[in-house]
Amino acid sequence: MNIPQLICPICNKPIEEGQSRFYFPKLHPSHELADLHGVLHLDCIRSIDRSRHVGQALAVLTAELASHSKTAPLLLRDGNIILRDFRLDESRIEIADYENFCEISLPINSLKNIQESTSKEAIALGLQILHINQDQFLEIEFKKPAFTVDLPTLSFSRFVSMLIAANVLQ
Ligand SMILES: [Zn+2]
Repeated sequence: MNIPQLICPICNKPIEEGQSRFYFPKLHPSHELADLHGVLHLDCIRSIDRSRHVGQALAVLTAELASHSKTAPLLLRDGNIILRDFRLDESRIEIADYENFCEISLPINSLKNIQESTSKEAIALGLQILHINQDQFLEIEFKKPAFTVDLPTLSFSRFVSMLIAANVLQ
């Protein structure tokens, strides 16, 4: 069976196997960013972020939703990165990084490994792998479908600081 080709709504070109991508949330049709939807090339969403303030808009929306949510309440907003607590039902922290356009799903049982990790390490997060690069910035490897996302504004030390500020790490 053929898998239908995904088309990026920004450049109207297909999203090829292995290309980094971002899953854009469905917005109200009246929202000024409602023309963006579905799967987008990571490079495409990053290229329009400065002119359309996409990351900031998504961060405001997500923080607002989370502040009223009982199942995934807001833990922290740091810049355009939002931490939500999925601990009640699924035991994980959901990190919506709208600076680099990446969602990180952090199982609670992986926190110990993060606390004890040093540079040049890879930490298994279940569905994703967190890489700490030589320059101390992070990269997330997605397994299915396989692609990676570099996080140029998220260093390992900022990542740990956010988890501490959210009372997730000591
Ligand atoms: Zn595109």
